[in-house]
Amino acid sequence: MNQTSSQPILLKFLGGAGTVTGSMYLVRAASHTFLLECGLFQGPRQQARQINSTFPFLPKDIEFLLLSHAHIDHSGNIPTLVKQGFGGKIYATSATADLASVMLADSAHIQFEDVEYLNRKLGLWGEATLKPLYTPEDVQACLPNFESLPYREEKKVDPYLSFTFFDAGHILGSSIILLGVLRGNEKIRICFTGDLGRKHLPILRDPHQVQDIDYLIAESTYGSSLHDPVEEAGRRLADIINRAVAEQGKVIIPAFAVERAQEVLYELFRLETEQKIPAIPIFVDSPLTAKVTEIFRRHPECYDEEMRKLLASREDPFHFGRLHYIRSIEESKSLNRMAGPFLIISASGMCESGRILHHLIHGLPDPRNTILFVGFQAEGTLGRRITEGVKRVRILEGEYPVRARIEMMHNFSAHADRHDLLNYVAACGKGIKGIFLVHGEPSQAQGLAQGLADMGLENIHRPARGDSFLLEDPAR
Ligand SMILES: [Zn+2]
Repeated sequence: MNQTSSQPILLKFLGGAGTVTGSMYLVRAASHTFLLECGLFQGPRQQARQINSTFPFLPKDIEFLLLSHAHIDHSGNIPTLVKQGFGGKIYATSATADLASVMLADSAHIQFEDVEYLNRKLGLWGEATLKPLYTPEDVQACLPNFESLPYREEKKVDPYLSFTFFDAGHILGSSIILLGVLRGNEKIRICFTGDLGRKHLPILRDPHQVQDIDYLIAESTYGSSLHDPVEEAGRRLADIINRAVAEQGKVIIPAFAVERAQEVLYELFRLETEQKIPAIPIFVDSPLTAKVTEIFRRHPECYDEEMRKLLASREDPFHFGRLHYIRSIEESKSLNRMAGPFLIISASGMCESGRILHHLIHGLPDPRNTILFVGFQAEGTLGRRITEGVKRVRILEGEYPVRARIEMMHNFSAHADRHDLLNYVAACGKGIKGIFLVHGEPSQAQGLAQGLADMGLENIHRPARGDSFLLEDPAR
């Protein structure tokens, strides 16, 4: 063995370890040092600022970055990395690169608004004002570093190191990343699941099953929980809409701009085509969602068979019936005066900001209306308070009664659940030498670890932030 191929492989867990936010893992293999993900840590303001603005390495020492998908908790700190000296390539699928450019711009905008609010509140000005973590200019500066790679095509960094993106079935462009490290005549295969999706989700192909791997870095977001079946989403959605139509009410759906909104549109399209719901007006009232939907239309290479067939027959789930994308604030406000039945999809998904707030202010007090939650509602968010059944809520400057029906659907989750994760790992092959569970709250990762141990698997780790491991260490 020469020197390059005899060194142990280092894995360092720098974020998204013991938590679902701020994913970042450093790998040193075959004389290369690179990152998997560079996510934004989202949490208490001061802690987030400290974690996001300081890297536990010199960004200029990182050779390249592999990005599994565009969600901000995986991609959102790339502008800081570049600003602080990283000059290497950012490899991702082309759909991920496109989505990331829109999502990072949106993230810069949110950070700007956040510090502006704080500066006002704290009475800061001049030198003392707080600065955003990064600006729209910083986002622009990092975009040339992106290099797109197609799915299933092995990229050889050199004879000793390669990587390949496979479908993860989580959001448009999302990937499972397979690393190949040559040691002597043996190729060590390390699989990183990124965020693992689910089978049968609309639009996307199912997650690719990687096999015969040596090490697995697996997400564990829902390691201890089970989802409602994807197949039942249509029926539930139809029931909710038909009841609202009978009562002449509005259906207001707070939805994340990426994937969730498009999946809901796809289901609505299907229900309407099959005449399971009447063709009521549907409004997408979120500029980010409209932009993201355009990106979906540009990436048919990510579609599953069903979606391809639809397009071949000139059907379009993103432009059908009485679906309308709203751009201006005036048009958005005019919906408040419109009589039901109609449906609004708006952001943000947890009702923390954006146009959804105005729709809730006008929609919550009327018992004919339905607020339909289709995504996870984190603790402390307005969405969580409403789903917990409060009778009155504060929104912006006012307080409003909650008389509308509150519905929740968990069918649309884009993450594998416990059952999916256990099955996925079981099919990875019997020769796994080590499993690292990341991207999960401790209770979820713990439950998954137990399930894997019950299957007879060994060397299951739940790394904490900062933990490192040496793989294939000849000294041991
Ligand atoms: Zn994700």
